Amino acid sequence: MEDGRIGKVVIVGGGTAGWMAAAVLARLMGAPAGERRLDICLVESEQIGTVGVGEATIPQIRLFNRTLGLDENAFVHRTRGTFKLGIEFDGWLRPGHRYMHAFGAVGGRDLGAVPFHHYWLRERLTGRAPALDEYVFNAVAAWRNRFLRGSELKDSPLSNVAYAFHFDASLYARYLREYAEARGVRRIEGKVADVRLRGDDGFIESVALEDGQVVGGELFLDCSGFRGLLIEQTLRAGYEDWSHWLPCDRALAVPCAPVEPLTPYTRSTARAAGWQWRIPLQHRTGNGMVYSSAHVSDDEAAATLLANLDGEALDDPRPLRFTTGMRRRFWHRNCVAVGLASGFMEPLESTSIHFIQQSLSKLVSFFPDRGFDAVDIAEYNRQVQFEYVRARDFLILHYLANERPEPFWQACRTMPVPDTLADRIALFRSHGRVHREHEELFTEASWVQVLVGQGVLPRSYHPMVDLLDDAECAAMLAGVHKVLHSCAEAMPDHAAFIARYCASA
Ligand code: FAD
Repeated sequence: MEDGRIGKVVIVGGGTAGWMAAAVLARLMGAPAGERRLDICLVESEQIGTVGVGEATIPQIRLFNRTLGLDENAFVHRTRGTFKLGIEFDGWLRPGHRYMHAFGAVGGRDLGAVPFHHYWLRERLTGRAPALDEYVFNAVAAWRNRFLRGSELKDSPLSNVAYAFHFDASLYARYLREYAEARGVRRIEGKVADVRLRGDDGFIESVALEDGQVVGGELFLDCSGFRGLLIEQTLRAGYEDWSHWLPCDRALAVPCAPVEPLTPYTRSTARAAGWQWRIPLQHRTGNGMVYSSAHVSDDEAAATLLANLDGEALDDPRPLRFTTGMRRRFWHRNCVAVGLASGFMEPLESTSIHFIQQSLSKLVSFFPDRGFDAVDIAEYNRQVQFEYVRARDFLILHYLANERPEPFWQACRTMPVPDTLADRIALFRSHGRVHREHEELFTEASWVQVLVGQGVLPRSYHPMVDLLDDAECAAMLAGVHKVLHSCAEAMPDHAAFIARYCASA
């Protein structure tokens, strides 16, 4: 813009990241038409296509959808989606063992100063307590295939059910594209062949397409996927490789026919050199294998995946390669990397789409006015990096604490880990305490479920628990157990809920 204001944003890439960016910027800054309105255009290449996976989310996605003003039932209908209460981890500690990392609280009610799991730890030390999942409302409901969005019942676990979605990634991108185009986003079909920089400061001036079109702008969002066309191939922002902590480097994805019951959770099953995902949608089940190519061949991984589908395969497995890590600078000069262009962590905790959302939310917070301020850019980069690093530690925990016999898992068990994670595990082992900073994505309940699920158990618990005598503590736990189980029992069947509320747009 002539007054120096950022007036034109160019988004390169039309996968989940590109269309999420286009939709939210159009919603918040693109309309209504007026002289300060942001001009947004998106360039994508059908010939290159999208990564096309990314179907499990975490509850924060609801905030994104609310920001757009999407009707949730219509959204589930359009994306052939299902509801998600958590992730089941099968065989991650050892073959035959399973636990749930469910959304929401552990224990289901506020006990004041001491989190619920300390009471459970005391009972466990006496050998009387059932598994922790028995006291996690979402886990209890998920394993019964129940779902309810929430009710008006005060003080009931049903009043605030934490949930997310599984959805068809290509249908979601299409949905958002319609949304964004209806709000003025211009889509340009074509392949970027050249990125042109300004001579004086090295900022991006324009992208040139194979057909000769030149698309200029003031701010560029790199949503071009793993290749990082602008942020890396052009601006060389750098990449921090984390594969020494998270050694899986390949994936195979294959859909299969849906089977009953329609489970309201993602399943992650440990395999000899990686793990397999299962994501139930209305019209198909998404499956995939994430594995370490140093420990298993592509053919063996594909054979294991295909042998463990619960419906008929609908396609051949599609191979994907990746290097786990993050961009050293997410925002560099006038380019912000969003989505796979900004970094990648395997979908073990369904974090990638959330990171897209976070990048966009922070971009809106730090949106440049006239020109680019180095202080704002540095703070943006610090905040995004913080989230990546903490989520990375959470993923490493799943691999580190295991009792599996295979060489891959033995290697994971003995690898050196980041100090931030080692400190957290030591703190928990002592008295079951979890330290987290307020910006962190994963809650205390998440850490507790995965620590306990992976067999990391504290030596003791918070001393205030001993203010109750044995009988009082046992009665309190039994009461919580009873309430959670009877509330879960009162919920409708997941498939019936979808049929009732999400049958039309
Ligand atoms: P892409 O989908 O790759 O899109 C890139 C876009 O850039 C495309 O439109 C392409 O055409 C365009 N493009 C590239 N080069 C050019 C060019 N030269 N000219 C013009 N256009 C170009 N995330 C989750 O949250 N949950 C999950 O369950 C999950 N599972 C995953 C499983 C696997 C195996 C993988 C690899 C990822 C998974 N993810 C998951 C991550 C998720 O898929 C991505 O975060 C999401 O799809 C966003 O991708 P993207 O838009 O950044 O990139």
